[in-house]
Amino acid sequence: MPGYRRVLLKLSGEVFGGGKVGVDPDVVQTIAKEIAAASQAGTEIAVVTGGGNFFRGSELQQRGMDRVRADYMGMLGIVMNCLALQDFLEKLGVETRVQTAITMGQVAEPYVPRRAIRHMEKGRVVIFGAGMGLPFFSTDTVAVQRALESRCDVVLYAKSGVDGVYSADPHKDPTATKYDELTYSEAIARDLRIMDQTAFTLCSENELPMVVFGMQTEGNILRVVQGERIGTLVTA
Ligand code: UDP
Repeated sequence: MPGYRRVLLKLSGEVFGGGKVGVDPDVVQTIAKEIAAASQAGTEIAVVTGGGNFFRGSELQQRGMDRVRADYMGMLGIVMNCLALQDFLEKLGVETRVQTAITMGQVAEPYVPRRAIRHMEKGRVVIFGAGMGLPFFSTDTVAVQRALESRCDVVLYAKSGVDGVYSADPHKDPTATKYDELTYSEAIARDLRIMDQTAFTLCSENELPMVVFGMQTEGNILRVVQGERIGTLVTA
């Protein structure tokens, strides 16, 4: 099996909470085991975590908060997910570094791209936190940006509710079919909403391959990192 040399794994906040608000340590431990196995098998791994299990700026805005302040709360929530993941990875003997886009020296390194690459070359898992450090962005966009800047071969989107890209929402439309492979132009032509527009455009314009896959089956992170064809592969 070919496998990837260096990957960017995007874990949404939902994954960390096991569907609830906050962090579920059992779930994080399970994810950490899979990342550890993939790292110990030799793939260089960077992770971008989401924060929807704590706060989403747009949701707080709908409930009367200032969007910018709410987005910063969202970014701080993300960092808690990073620390939880770091903790379980280090317990498994995997060296990690958390790099945040908002400087917080007591908890993490600042985001320094060349240093992140160096960590990965040494076999450390790098966890990028606090999003882009900028309001109005999503962590899906951050995942593509970090993957491009740290020269990853692919961006891997781990989903908790769906196991790939479908022709329609599989939860609403029983006739929806899953794609094994797609091109970016096919996704645009079929109006498939894989992720937000900014992330999608950044990925397609830079011809970065992407895999969307489900986390429901244990071992899927390891499988996808090692190049097994699960989920949906989207390429230029
Ligand atoms: N966020 C932001 N800028 C960023 C990344 C995230 O303002 O660069 C905020 C935004 O409020 C977002 C929240 O952090 O709603 C959590 O991120 P996201 O919704 O992408 O997490 P996920 O849906 O992956 O759990």
